[in-house]
Amino acid sequence: MTLSNKILLTIGLLFILLHTSSTHAAKISRAQPAQKKASVKVINIKYWSNPNYTRVVISLSGDAKFSHRLLKEDPKIEKPRRLYIDINRASLSSSLKQPIPINDGLLKMARAGQYSKAVVRVVLDIESIEDYKVFPLAEPFRIVIDVIGKKQAGKLPPAESVKVVPPEPAKPSLAQQLGLKIKRIVIDAGHGGKDSGAVGRNGLKEKDVVLKIAKGLQETLSKETGAEVVMTRDDDTFIPLEERTAIANTKEADIFISVHANASFNRKASGVETYFLNLTNDETAIRLAARENAVSTKKMSDLQFILNDLMKTAKTNESSRLAAVVQESLVSTLRAKYSDVRGNGVKGAPFYVLVGTHMPSILVEVSFISNSREEVRLSENAYIHEIINGITHGIKGYVKEMEVAVE
Ligand SMILES: [Zn+2]
Repeated sequence: MTLSNKILLTIGLLFILLHTSSTHAAKISRAQPAQKKASVKVINIKYWSNPNYTRVVISLSGDAKFSHRLLKEDPKIEKPRRLYIDINRASLSSSLKQPIPINDGLLKMARAGQYSKAVVRVVLDIESIEDYKVFPLAEPFRIVIDVIGKKQAGKLPPAESVKVVPPEPAKPSLAQQLGLKIKRIVIDAGHGGKDSGAVGRNGLKEKDVVLKIAKGLQETLSKETGAEVVMTRDDDTFIPLEERTAIANTKEADIFISVHANASFNRKASGVETYFLNLTNDETAIRLAARENAVSTKKMSDLQFILNDLMKTAKTNESSRLAAVVQESLVSTLRAKYSDVRGNGVKGAPFYVLVGTHMPSILVEVSFISNSREEVRLSENAYIHEIINGITHGIKGYVKEMEVAVE
């Protein structure tokens, strides 16, 4: 079966599923012989939040099926509106028996209990939410719940302050312009800690290279755009992919850039490529996304299936535009000094770290660490410097384009 057929089959299954059940199945399997398998444990519940957005992540010891449902407020039993997730064939870790207070204006708390012998129910007590999404990520299996609040758009400044606002200067400075549109950029250095990422033949680690680039980007971007630049990590720490996305969303970033170095079994493969979140049937892109997601390629079809639903709210057009500008700038900057650098173009692929971001988001594969020539270059400050320059100019170009577009 070809990959596109597989995707079509998956979409078909989704259709059937939606029309036969109101529940959301984490995994599709045709037969159910695995019922005798040992149950999974719900091991952790974490959350990240700001007043407009909350991400809750439930971590499990293994794959599980789950369903979710929104319940109306029930004054008779003094229960607020709530969202629950039922996890089948699961048991609850004893550390999770206490409720977890959240109180961020969207959610009051998360609480978990052994609903029946085989079902763990996680309940989110709601204060006020506009919308939510529930989706699983694999290896390790976790259930992500993204909740958004009502936008605070209706808030107007008090009448007095409107009067004293001076008229806008005819030609605002670039910094002022940027201040209006791009206030915050989140830079994500891939991998870290126990996760080295790809490792070159000479032992160069992706996690070290991308951290160096990210730190350089923080410096140049804050200097040259005036935006606040936030790092998902600024040292050798492991951070789960869903947490990196949560950081970008809770910081309300206007741009999200995840920095990586590529690797391929084909040692001759080389060059620069930039990705945005999308479905794909390009097998090389799927293999790369599987590696960056730290999942088997088999799990990638599950992810493509989940993405069908999540893509509706993704900023796909803006992200692909950002990817194009950064890719073009990075390749031309590198080529000015290293004429043989290959530009492999802009591609869409399902990367976990880009799933659920609220802003234009891209993942840059700056060069191939698996290619011996590029591994040597990636270990040299001069090459790293050009990568930082190339990405910085690309982002500046994108910001400028946006400003022109709104004038
Ligand atoms: Zn990577």
